[in-house]
Amino acid sequence: MLDADFFRRWMTAAAASVDREAERLTALDSPIGDADHGSNLQRGFRVVAATLEKESPDIPGEILQLAGRQLISTVGGASGPLYGTLLRRTGKALGDAAEVSREQLAQALRAGVEALMALGGAAPGDKTMVDTLVPAMEALGTSFEAARAAAEEGAVATTPLQARKGRASYLGERSIGHQDPGATSSALLIAALVEAAGE
Ligand code: ADP
Ligand code: MG
Ligand code: MG
Repeated sequence: MLDADFFRRWMTAAAASVDREAERLTALDSPIGDADHGSNLQRGFRVVAATLEKESPDIPGEILQLAGRQLISTVGGASGPLYGTLLRRTGKALGDAAEVSREQLAQALRAGVEALMALGGAAPGDKTMVDTLVPAMEALGTSFEAARAAAEEGAVATTPLQARKGRASYLGERSIGHQDPGATSSALLIAALVEAAGE
């Protein structure tokens, strides 16, 4: 079962990973965006990690909702409200259980990803974080490792796509041939989840 410590480890591992990979995320956002994705997420996840050090709820759902609120209030770019909504809605779906199963987390993530899609209007194939999160959330029903692999594949598979949402869509066909920064950071968040599970 996944307890509050697991969710703290997930958020802490995500913050560390975003810190390590910030330059790469910003570099990916340079040809098809405005070169700020790494710094946007770095600012947000640093606040998430610091907040969870100060006040740490013992309820998994509350940890995710707290993290989501911090991302919404500290990240200026499109990714802040999108990831914030993902975490808040996932946390809300977990309710006030002290521990949840992997299957329950997969169900809750489905609600979170659907809320993110409703907010941004993106569907799979639009070259966004959705291309990573949908297959990852589906594979999480099978295993943590399957989710990690599906996320990585989803991120890489955005390269040949033409962007239909977000800043990259303004480039039309010129967005083809570049891996999407948000799909890449989503793969980091899923990898951090698997790391927290110790798998
Ligand atoms: P901004 O584009 O405002 O500078 P970021 O650079 O932080 O924001 O995030 C860009 C990423 O956000 C993109 O690579 C894409 O994955 C994701 N994104 C942008 N718009 C949408 C949307 N409408 N739906 C889903 N994801 C989106
Ligand atoms: Mg950007
Ligand atoms: Mg920006």
